[in-house]
Amino acid sequence: MYKAPVEEIAFTLKHVAGLAQAIDDGLLGDLGEDLVDAILHEAGRFASDEIAPLAEIGDRQGARISDGKVTTPDGWRDLYRNWIAGGWNGLTASEDFGGQALPHMLNVAALEMWNSGSMAFALCPTLTMGAIEAISAHGSDALKQTYLPKLVSGEWTGTMNLTEPHAGSDLGVLKARAERRDDGSYRIFGQKIFITWGEHDAADNIIHLVLARLPDAPSGTRGISLFLVPKFLVNEDGSLGARNDLFCHALEHKLGIHGSPTCTMIYGDGRFGAEKGAIGWLVGEENKGLACMFTMMNNARLAVGMQGVAIAEAATQKAVAYARERTQGKAPGWAGAGMSPIIEHPDVIRMLLTMKALTQGARAIAYSCAHATDMAHRAGDDKKHWQERAALLTPVAKSFATDIGVDVASLGIQVHGGMGFIEETGAARYLRDARIAPIYEGTNGIQAIDLVTRKLPLSDGGEVKSMIAELQEIADRVGASNAENFGATANRLNAAITDLEEATDWFLSQLAAGNVADALSGATPYQRLFGLTLTGCYLANGALADTDDGKAADRIALCRFAAENLLAETTALRDTVVNGAASLAAARSILA
Ligand SMILES: Cc1cc2nc3c(=O)[nH]c(=O)nc-3n(C[C@H](O)[C@H](O)[C@H](O)COP(=O)(O)OP(=O)(O)OC[C@H]3O[C@@H](n4cnc5c(N)ncnc54)[C@H](O)[C@@H]3O)c2cc1C
Repeated sequence: MYKAPVEEIAFTLKHVAGLAQAIDDGLLGDLGEDLVDAILHEAGRFASDEIAPLAEIGDRQGARISDGKVTTPDGWRDLYRNWIAGGWNGLTASEDFGGQALPHMLNVAALEMWNSGSMAFALCPTLTMGAIEAISAHGSDALKQTYLPKLVSGEWTGTMNLTEPHAGSDLGVLKARAERRDDGSYRIFGQKIFITWGEHDAADNIIHLVLARLPDAPSGTRGISLFLVPKFLVNEDGSLGARNDLFCHALEHKLGIHGSPTCTMIYGDGRFGAEKGAIGWLVGEENKGLACMFTMMNNARLAVGMQGVAIAEAATQKAVAYARERTQGKAPGWAGAGMSPIIEHPDVIRMLLTMKALTQGARAIAYSCAHATDMAHRAGDDKKHWQERAALLTPVAKSFATDIGVDVASLGIQVHGGMGFIEETGAARYLRDARIAPIYEGTNGIQAIDLVTRKLPLSDGGEVKSMIAELQEIADRVGASNAENFGATANRLNAAITDLEEATDWFLSQLAAGNVADALSGATPYQRLFGLTLTGCYLANGALADTDDGKAADRIALCRFAAENLLAETTALRDTVVNGAASLAAARSILA
């Protein structure tokens, strides 16, 4: 069973991602390390003792639908109520609406733990947090006063309604429509698919954020508006009123995250109410809906990245525990009686260390991204730098973490042998759950395009260059430290950084020359190259940290393992980026 790695999480937050420095510099108000530790321990306890035990039933039973009513798996309703009673939903929300205004770094760490406990369960608050953010940033005062207190407490949950059958990655073609009403509200019509936690029985009201088009809107992405559409209308005194004209038509049958209801939502077909059309209120300005959604998308993408880290952590724990117990054959040097535990076999050790290194690397990337977001919110002079740093790291955090989530979960099955393929062990669930994360919240292919075409050019390439310079400083510090324990780490880091730098320069020159097709051909390998290089450097940063927790030798050993076993891939990736486009174009006719 999953046990939250609270010490590892706290270490990464404080000593790799920059939380301790931010606290020392007085950038996070009253927050001190003691409070951080207390919050992490309590979140870890809840995730390990209360969420994780209900993950399996959630997977087996799944969410169920009958006559438009969706029932969550046994025990989940109470679990959700207990979770919101702990105040977890409002960690980062404004104190004006009952939140705790804590840094994103803490919320991201807590999200990791909720998702390790059960990703399907954690999706519910993840979507609510996104809705809170969008309403906080763009909603009118009236919308904020009416909806934020109950969303922040978690009594009501939130959703994001973007996708339609013909509009997924390209939202410009969405068809849901909105009509103006005389009182300033709108009526919404249309169908949305794949809406996470779109209907359920865990909360009293569900607040849908819906993208739709006004009759006189320009075509494409410039003609999309964002509306707040509650399941139940809210009376002036805050009590719940009539049912709005929307319902869940069906639930999807999915590969994983069975406990999370994935809903087809119908707006405005006249099932509820005297007049057709679900009543909604504009969030932000007309035709600026996509921009409003993008405000929250950075954090939502990071939250999905946390799902990758979370699954990787849980899968690694399960694999290590199994490998300690399962005995087969005799490992080289095994002196015990009978067969050795499989954890003694070098190939199994390789798998487990790969899982650990990728998990910790992805965690460090994601927490660093959250740190940049916090700094962007609070710092003064260097606000632009931190905004750009968060923007640069977000696609890498989302894509690298979710890709390694799948890889690590798959390795976890391999460590279990045949038992990994059998549902009973639970290793298979991690792979099934992990598989959606590279797809939703912008596929990882779309993240790569975002990274290459929008994020690398920030400040004319200045932001990515300053990040690479920081990575070089870490490599230099490794080189200047005890070289014996670090083995070839410094050399491997130097090589990876050079690969990243060369590939980055290549992109910047291709984009400057308007050679977009070639640039897009190499975007995904570049994204992995970026993630792997960050992994090596962040593991090294942790290994160099001056702490007395007795784990320094382990950190150096894991860092060295990653540098000498995983980072060799960066050279091949650089070569693919720089030289792969022509052959890709030439082979295209094969697919005709
Ligand atoms: C379980 C689940 C939960 C979801 N939850 C929600 C939710 O709560 N709210 C919501 O609105 N949506 C939700 N979605 C939808 C999800 O966000 C979309 O599935 C996702 O954005 C991809 O869109 P698509 O499925 O239409 O794939 P497509 O856009 O058709 O993409 C198919 C493939 O083509 C590639 N591709 C597409 N366009 C480009 C391009 N321009 N350049 C390069 N490659 C491209 C993609 O990367 C992908 O590999 C959910 C989906 C699932 C399965």
